[in-house]
Amino acid sequence: MSDIPTEQKVVLIRETGGPEVLRYEEDYPVPEVRGSDILIKNRYAGVNFIETYFRTGLYPCEKPYVLGREAVGVVAAIGADVRRFKVGDRVACLSSGTFAQYTAVSEKSNVLKLPDDIQDGELQAVAGSLVNGLTALTLVDEAYKPQVGEIVLVYAAAGGVGQLLIQLLHARSVRVIAVASTDEKLQIAKSRGAEFLINSSREDIVAKVLEFTDGEGVGASYDSVGKDTFETTLQSVKRKGTIVSFGNASGAVPPFSIQRLTPKNLKILRPQLYGYLATREEWEYYSSKLLHLIRSKKLIINITNLSPLEEFKRLTQLLESRQTTGKLLLAIPD
Ligand code: NDP
Repeated sequence: MSDIPTEQKVVLIRETGGPEVLRYEEDYPVPEVRGSDILIKNRYAGVNFIETYFRTGLYPCEKPYVLGREAVGVVAAIGADVRRFKVGDRVACLSSGTFAQYTAVSEKSNVLKLPDDIQDGELQAVAGSLVNGLTALTLVDEAYKPQVGEIVLVYAAAGGVGQLLIQLLHARSVRVIAVASTDEKLQIAKSRGAEFLINSSREDIVAKVLEFTDGEGVGASYDSVGKDTFETTLQSVKRKGTIVSFGNASGAVPPFSIQRLTPKNLKILRPQLYGYLATREEWEYYSSKLLHLIRSKKLIINITNLSPLEEFKRLTQLLESRQTTGKLLLAIPD
């Protein structure tokens, strides 16, 4: 461990609040590895909307809290009990605390060994898709698995998760109605396979959904926007349809009466990614499936911004103000 420093650069919060509470610190302790821990020297880390929820306090966390949920890097040190990894292995990890030069995780947690011949572009794609790609995969495999030819609704269609959802659904011959706030974003959604487009800034979402579905409504709605679109989603889903409410970009869905589901016999679920990756088998299955999709170029990870770690505040402000498409990635300093 001699070449591993004792202090490192990280992005963290010490209190909840707006973007002003985000801190780039250069003397945060490097975690120690014990037992079955591995220490990963991070190379790239993805930016996700969930960081906003922790920063604002919507999701609780102990402070100080190093942000970041996914990264790729190299194993820099291992604990005495580690069996599956060795120093020098390239790995991807789905873990908290990745906006840092070093992250310590248990080898039993969500860590994927990457092939030695993996290229830099693929590394970026993996770093930028562990959260979004695994979310999209589990949503279409488990939260609601649409039938061939079925029409479904996808919000934030040009966003990080949105573009991946559309590609996966299109590949399964599911017909996608994409919702986004600009025509430019809708063109991106179309290029990923969306068939029907709705500009939420100037069109009535429910009216357009009914027009595209001959008055019937969609079989399912994949809704990451939350508060602002809940009513729209309720009205857009057809009889016996499913609402997959998986995000809070506009705020959390307020409490509602379960009776609202009665008129159309609707189903609703509010899944979180980790609930689909709770066992080693689930992690191995979905992470290797994602890696295969990336390496075989069946899933395009559209990285639209690669910036140094210290610029996270600027990136999240762009993300939160709806000015981004695709995936934003951080390069971790050496
Ligand atoms: P996106 O790239 O999709 O960015 C968010 C998008 O949401 C915006 O570009 C915008 O698209 C749309 N949006 C609508 N209303 C608002 C608003 N009031 N403020 C901000 N954005 C708004 O982000 P991600 O891909 O990182 O995440 C997408 C969603 O998926 C998030 O809600 C996230 O929490 C959720 N998620 C949930 C997971 C889970 O386990 N349940 C796991 C991963 C992500 P437009 O302008 O086109 O409307």
